[in-house]
Amino acid sequence: MNEKEILAWLREEDPARLERLWREADCVRAKNVGDQVHLRGLIELSNICVRKCAYCGINAGNKNLIRFRMTEEEIRSAARLACELNLGSVILQSGEDYGFTKEKISRIIKLIKQETPLAVTLSLGERSLNELTAWREAGADRYFLRFETSNRSLYNRLHPPLPGKTSDRIFLLQKIKELGYETGSGIMIGLPGQTYIDIARDILLFRELDLDMIGVGPYIPHPATPLAQEVGKAYPDQVPNTSLMTWKVIALTRLVCPESNIPSTTALATINKMEGYFGGLKRGANVVMPDLTPAKYRILYEIYPGKASFGEDIQGAIQKFKEQLIEMGRPPGTGPGGRKRH
Ligand code: SAM
Repeated sequence: MNEKEILAWLREEDPARLERLWREADCVRAKNVGDQVHLRGLIELSNICVRKCAYCGINAGNKNLIRFRMTEEEIRSAARLACELNLGSVILQSGEDYGFTKEKISRIIKLIKQETPLAVTLSLGERSLNELTAWREAGADRYFLRFETSNRSLYNRLHPPLPGKTSDRIFLLQKIKELGYETGSGIMIGLPGQTYIDIARDILLFRELDLDMIGVGPYIPHPATPLAQEVGKAYPDQVPNTSLMTWKVIALTRLVCPESNIPSTTALATINKMEGYFGGLKRGANVVMPDLTPAKYRILYEIYPGKASFGEDIQGAIQKFKEQLIEMGRPPGTGPGGRKRH
């Protein structure tokens, strides 16, 4: 698929033609990654962040947020919960928190690896090559870092670099790949100033980077962020931050990157309560990431308001979700669920 064809689909509004896109994406998903839906346990380690990303509710400029950092014991116990729930992997995600040093994260990875059969994905922001190397050696399997948008000027406007440094996530993703991590990236959809052409190029960049995991979700304004003030401004060719647009991007991503693991994201489930995770799963996605962060911290990891959640009774909710998956002919995945190359 080329840029022109992707653009035409992104602009498509005819429900009957879109049904064709959903069906095609679902077929390509079944053929390449199978029917299983992999459940990954998300553990949000810390909402402490040095960055001032204009879109993100936990950015360093938000002074009204109570900050937390999970202890090693709390992280181990969340990983054990993932095992009890028969999930094949955990994602350790956090703000860019340098309190989680190279040594501390290495220790946590080794403990999880000793105590469980889980695959470990890290999503800790733009960390140094030295840290990334150490964590890979400690046993981390995957690294997830969204490039957010391939439009450089939009990226620079929304994602200020740290003083004296540059922020080049695409360069970092290439290095992450060279270190032997399964590599994941993605974008937000509907950022103020983001155009249809930007999204088409994002999808083509997914292919160029040969990503193992691709996470896309709608941008959801957080009132305590600078970007929320820009919502509704008349930008030319503005992409909407709707579930329909997110479904289109999921479906097109599946067609362009058939082998990738693609989650139906929490942000999508947040803005579409009716279809929730199932909307994405029917249109090319094959992964869901239930949040296993202890409730007292989960509410503080507020990257956007109203984040969808599996609730307090996580065991019960996951059991019910698995039953719903079986009913729709999409059995819950077994094992770590890494990328399979054909
Ligand atoms: N600090 C790490 C990083 O930047 O990669 C991981 C945590 S960061 C909160 C995870 C992702 O949340 C970001 O890559 C971004 O795409 C998403 N995110 C942040 N703010 C958001 C918002 N307002 N709406 C939707 N997604 C958002």
